[in-house]
Amino acid sequence: MDMSQQRVLVIFAHPDDPEFMVGGTIARWAREGAAVTYVIITDGSAGSNDPTMERDTLVDLRRREQRGACDAAGVGDLLFLGYQDGVLQPTLELRRDLTRIIRQYKPTIVVCGDPTAWFYSEGYINHPDHRAAAAAAIEAVFPSAETRPIFRELLAEGLEPHKVQQLWITGATEVNMWVDISADIETKIEALRHHKSQVEVGEGEFIRKWAAEDGRKVGMTYAETFKVMRLSSGE
Ligand SMILES: [Zn+2]
Repeated sequence: MDMSQQRVLVIFAHPDDPEFMVGGTIARWAREGAAVTYVIITDGSAGSNDPTMERDTLVDLRRREQRGACDAAGVGDLLFLGYQDGVLQPTLELRRDLTRIIRQYKPTIVVCGDPTAWFYSEGYINHPDHRAAAAAAIEAVFPSAETRPIFRELLAEGLEPHKVQQLWITGATEVNMWVDISADIETKIEALRHHKSQVEVGEGEFIRKWAAEDGRKVGMTYAETFKVMRLSSGE
């Protein structure tokens, strides 16, 4: 795939989600010339249990951390939708907001999570915001972004239907794509390091371990995995 011809829209619930989940792939695609836009749906305000942390301070901090992470990975556009962190639902309002962005940015590829994933290994319950963000993103890709009569108010804003060609789902229960991020693992770690309020990255050993596990099956040093849906024959 010639990435210099691709417009990529990456949709997640929280600041730091893209870095954890797809940071290597995005760094690679950006390096290969793709135009990448991140959409962070929530305000990140539930990202601290410190009783002295002021909400506005945290929201502002997390925005700056995300901007730094985007700069590290070569991501140009960064949009914050400002929904409340921790209680996200896949509402029609959110679907409309994401549909609007898809029609504005006209991505060839949309990247998001897996709305069906409740459990990862034996130790982690998938955050409900992640499932909600993924459901709303997929429901915006299909059918509302490409279907004229859905959200007619967007037509009044001058936003014509747009068909996304590929949906790349990370954290998927069924995987059919491995992206070799061996040349981009350091950039992934560097981007994640910007989220100082959320994660102690250190030397990034846990990131290397995850990526090595994902790559082992297909003989890559480091990989990220996806379920890829090809939604059109390609215009
Ligand atoms: Zn998250």
